[in-house]
Amino acid sequence: MKEYSIEELKNIVRPKLGENVPLLLFRILRIIGIRSLLGETSGATLYMMGKNVGTMLGAVDLEDLRKKIEELKVGIAEIETIDEERMIVKLYECITCSGFGYTGEMFCDMESGIIAGLMETIFKKRAKSTQTKSWSVGYNYCEFEILLY
Ligand SMILES: [Zn+2]
Repeated sequence: MKEYSIEELKNIVRPKLGENVPLLLFRILRIIGIRSLLGETSGATLYMMGKNVGTMLGAVDLEDLRKKIEELKVGIAEIETIDEERMIVKLYECITCSGFGYTGEMFCDMESGIIAGLMETIFKKRAKSTQTKSWSVGYNYCEFEILLY
């Protein structure tokens, strides 16, 4: 199977419809489609997918990470550094869960992975991201704890 680069995906020719798609379509694919195909393994798979994407995108520093997340409309990130190994990333307007009602489970694994991947390219260390808050567990933002090791 061929592997495609981000550059190859950038050539979008849609004179009438343009580059944007409804967020609802993304959520149908992401929350209904992928979960129904992958079931219980969808979380880990989406995290790995996000991590690969984050690594491909790359970031030079935390400001660049913030900019990339916002440009791709994944969300609006607020980053708090705890110490050399730990950071908290609050994600407002999360692409996946923003506005979601309470379900008792968190499922922003792709976003979590994207943040971890971007962090790895900045700090040249391995990064693990764990989601700790979400609209779906009663907050009005998403939150991730990042561990660099
Ligand atoms: Zn979220």
